Amino acid sequence: MSLKIYINGKLLDKNEARISVFDHGLLYGDGVFEGIRSYDGLIFKLTEHLIRLYESAKSIGLSIPISLPELTQAIIRTLKANQLKDAYIRLIVTRGVGDLGLDPAKCPNPTIIIIADKIALYPEEYYKNGLELITVSTRRNIQEAVSPQIKSLNYLNNILAKIEATNSGAMEAIMLNRDGYIVECSGVNIFVIKKEQILTPPCFLGALKGITRDTIIELARKEEMEVREEIMTRHDLFNSDESFLTGTAAEIIPVVKVDGRTIGNGKPGKITARLLKRFRELTKTEGVRY
Ligand code: PMP
Repeated sequence: MSLKIYINGKLLDKNEARISVFDHGLLYGDGVFEGIRSYDGLIFKLTEHLIRLYESAKSIGLSIPISLPELTQAIIRTLKANQLKDAYIRLIVTRGVGDLGLDPAKCPNPTIIIIADKIALYPEEYYKNGLELITVSTRRNIQEAVSPQIKSLNYLNNILAKIEATNSGAMEAIMLNRDGYIVECSGVNIFVIKKEQILTPPCFLGALKGITRDTIIELARKEEMEVREEIMTRHDLFNSDESFLTGTAAEIIPVVKVDGRTIGNGKPGKITARLLKRFRELTKTEGVRY
């Protein structure tokens, strides 16, 4: 069975699912998106993802032409049409078709796209052995230019960071803000554990307010662990006991080396493992059923 893609209310065969070359999503990266996951027929944190999508859209002056409940139904329809129980859902809203100029006022109809596919899991060895990170020289976007809270279709800031990491043989890139503080990685948030305190950079430094990040903060507090947002430098990270990354696709991935420095004892930490276990339990019980 060929994958069915949702475009503006229609479910189209993967090979027939096309958008115009005049769509400003393509021409200018003018649009917003979300990456969502479903686990065994439960869409995890759907409302949180949709709220973030509508907020990103509002921030760029893009009015999504359907309501949040309608978008929920469209996602469920796409999942059902593809008979997917465990899926990665890519939801995209572009400015729509316009002319070759920048002017968004010439794009009257936003394009809504939903792609639901099998989740491409990260190899299990990363969860078992941990990742190595490298700090890159590409700084995180400053909010005075494009707010890092907007999950926009223009991901060049993150892509440039990823290229630098790959060129240096690392899986992920640590991005600093313009003042040199740790912010996040190319597409995941970062946590540091020191003396059983769980620390993560505050979003105002330039990190996306990740939904997995929020979930981990909540889970850790339920476990009566101390969690704080903290302004941190590379020095703090080098001298941490544990570190891990969070994201919808990645879930929770331990970090064992940063810029050649071993984190803790060089093996994924106990607190990280406990949080990953709790997180996976949560995905089995919570979500929008379809
Ligand atoms: N930071 C960036 C830049 C991201 O693009 C993402 C999502 N891919 C995240 C962090 C993680 O956010 P979430 O947990 O909501 O997937």
